[in-house]
Amino acid sequence: MARKDVQRQLREQFIEENGIICLDNVSKAYSTGSPALNNVSLTIKPGEFVFIVGNSGSGKSTLIKLLLRELTASSGSVYVMGHDLSKIPRRKIPQFRRNLGVVFQDFRLLKDRNVFENVAFAQRVIQVPAKEIQRNVPAILSTVGLAGKYKSKPRQLSGGEQQRVALARALVNKPSILLADEPTGNLDPTNTWEIMNLLEEINANGTTVLVVTHNSEVVNAMQKRVITLKKGVIVSDEEEGGYIDED
Ligand code: ADP
Ligand code: MG
Repeated sequence: MARKDVQRQLREQFIEENGIICLDNVSKAYSTGSPALNNVSLTIKPGEFVFIVGNSGSGKSTLIKLLLRELTASSGSVYVMGHDLSKIPRRKIPQFRRNLGVVFQDFRLLKDRNVFENVAFAQRVIQVPAKEIQRNVPAILSTVGLAGKYKSKPRQLSGGEQQRVALARALVNKPSILLADEPTGNLDPTNTWEIMNLLEEINANGTTVLVVTHNSEVVNAMQKRVITLKKGVIVSDEEEGGYIDED
C-alpha cells in the first residue's frame, strides 16, 4: 500500500477510536492573564451536532481557533480528522483547512464581490475547475435559499441573507466539519432560526457541526449535545442538554 493510503487508514482508525475532534488535556495560555483553556479534554464523534456555550471570556473562540490551527495549544494535544495539529507543518495548513467550513458572527464576506463570487472564491483558491464551480455554486446557493440573489452585493442583503452566503461559502467545498462561532450573534430571532434550521439540515446530511452560541432559547429548544465552558474549564457536557445560566 502507498504511504499516503497507510496514513489515511491510520487517521480513519484514529477517528473511529477517538472522534473526529479530540482534545486531550489541552491548555492554552496567552501571554497575559490566566489560561483561556485549562486542561480541556473532549471527544466529538463524526456526525455529531454540538453546542459550545459559556459566558463571554470562557474560552469558546479560543477552542475554535485551536481547531482551525489558528492557534496552537500551550500543552496537551488537539486532533482534528485524525491529524495531530501540533505536527502539521505550516505549508500544509491550507490543505488541512479544506476539510473545515467556518462561519463567524460578522459574516466576513468580500464587500466588492457579488454573492456568486463570494462563494466561488472558496472553490477558486483550491483550484476547482471553472465548469464545476458553475455547477457547485448555484447548487449550494439554492440549499441556503439564495439561488435568486447570486448577483447581489453583500450590502444589498439582510444580515440573515449575508450569513447564509457565508454558510454557502463554508460548505461549497464539502467539509467534514462545520465550525460556527456565534453565527447568529447579529441576527434577529427569525433569521436565527433559519440559520439554525440550515445547520441542522447540514448536520443531517453527515457534516459534523460545532456551534458556539449565547442563545439559550435556541440551545434549550434544539436538544443537542451541550458543552458548557466556564473560565476555560468544561463544567458540563450533556446529551440533549440545556443552557446553564451562569451568574
Ligand atoms: P469567548 O469566545 O468564550 O468569549 P475567548 O476564547 O475569546 O472567549 O477568550 C478567553 C480568554 O482569553 C479571555 O479572558 C480573553 O480575554 C483571553 N484572550 C482571548 N484572546 C486573547 C489574546 N489574543 N491575547 C490575550 N488574551 C486573550
Ligand atoms: Mg468568542
